[in-house]
Amino acid sequence: MTKFTDLNLHPKVLQAVAESGYETPTPIQAQAIPPALEGRDVLGIAQTGTGKTAGFTLPMITLLAKGRARARMPRSLVLAPTRELAAQVAEAFDTYAKHFKLTKALLIGGVSFKDQNAAIDRGADVLIATPGRLLDHFERGRLLLSGVQIMVVDEADRMLDMGFIPDIERIFSLTPFTRQTLFFSATMAPEIERITNIFMANPVKVEVARRATTAETIDQRLVMVTPSRKDRQPTEKRAALRALIDAEGAGCTNAIIFCNRKIEVDAVAKSLKKHSYNAAALHGDLDQSKRMEVLGGFRDGSLRLLVASDVAARGLDIPAVSHVFNFDVPIHAEDYVHRIGRTGRAGRTGIAITICTPMGEKHLADIEALIERPIPRADNPVGRPAPKAADAAETAAPERPNRPRRARSDKGAQAPDPLPATAPEADAQAPRAAAAPAENKPKSRRGKGRSGGGGDAVVGMGEHMPGFIAKSFEERLSG
Ligand code: AMP
Repeated sequence: MTKFTDLNLHPKVLQAVAESGYETPTPIQAQAIPPALEGRDVLGIAQTGTGKTAGFTLPMITLLAKGRARARMPRSLVLAPTRELAAQVAEAFDTYAKHFKLTKALLIGGVSFKDQNAAIDRGADVLIATPGRLLDHFERGRLLLSGVQIMVVDEADRMLDMGFIPDIERIFSLTPFTRQTLFFSATMAPEIERITNIFMANPVKVEVARRATTAETIDQRLVMVTPSRKDRQPTEKRAALRALIDAEGAGCTNAIIFCNRKIEVDAVAKSLKKHSYNAAALHGDLDQSKRMEVLGGFRDGSLRLLVASDVAARGLDIPAVSHVFNFDVPIHAEDYVHRIGRTGRAGRTGIAITICTPMGEKHLADIEALIERPIPRADNPVGRPAPKAADAAETAAPERPNRPRRARSDKGAQAPDPLPATAPEADAQAPRAAAAPAENKPKSRRGKGRSGGGGDAVVGMGEHMPGFIAKSFEERLSG
């Protein structure tokens, strides 16, 4: 078995690795570090949880140990798709480079330019950035990329999903063609293959097994929820979720609950809190400090249930999650692999429970084709509720669509309301949810009309929604 000391890393890097408690390199580290240290381009096909962050940071630190950064001309660049992932890479640098005097700048959206400018002006050995914010700085003339010797693209498949590939191509073209490129992606979509062919020189390809095909430690289950009435679907799914959480009892020490859309993330988190569960939402619309607070709580164990969208949760290093719940069947089959990979890490057992409605069956078939096995079916602990009796607490007056917000009897006794002031109440959100684009995905979803999504009929109007109402929803969404 390869040892860290076999890898030619700088002794001070080895010291930091030992202090982190790592005993042996993970497969991606053992395979990627030697060619990276030789200055080769590396194409790593690996997802989060494999140790890929150290796989690129450890050789980078070793290579950057010699030399000094010049003002506004970073020596290396790491691109990450989300702010959290970028912040996490920055933390990894701090950990592994603690015995060096390397400088670092973290350029992410949602925080002021001022401190970032100062960090760039001081000269950064390592620049860690999301693509949009990096280009913002570049266009303001604050930054030159012609000194970049090493460029890392992390989670490229997520960059593709988020529409960042043109930005990545532009950034590549702003760096010297002599740079070394370390490129990581969980999957090799044709578009990703195309850019690696253009921007990488004879890369060493390093691939580690997909989690879904290897994680035998994950107990996967599927629960069908057939709504008693279309407009009750969200409420009945939330009741099923609560029953599923309860059924897991104390074994469910912490869980991530994935939803497909931001609006559902908010509604589910709000509903859980209302039912006295220790839950909070994480999605791209929260401001940076709130996101950090939520994540911090989840990491230190003070928050038990993290309700998240795929984009917000992607790449986050959250150890030891006992359960993953899919409140929705993910639209993209690969997201299922990423989601359930949050549990059953490093040989621990984990449980992944997916709620599926008849609307989700098509996506379920795609997932089962991808993972090459059926997900075992489990019973809905709630069963099919009688139409009128369903979840009386959730369908009570305070959450009815036309009731003025001020009339909420329970206001003030609640945790802070995560929805914007103009948002309809949780159970009246269906039309917004139907019209809402998936987080950070400008592309239109699978050709469903306004009334085609799950639970998206306007309450009281059957399948038909007059145009003027549709318009006002759109306006609210764009506002
Ligand atoms: P990543 O895939 O980079 O997000 O890393 C996942 C987790 O694995 C992080 O918590 C790292 O701290 C941890 N890790 C990375 N390398 C090792 C290693 N060689 N041994 C044990 N844990 C590691």
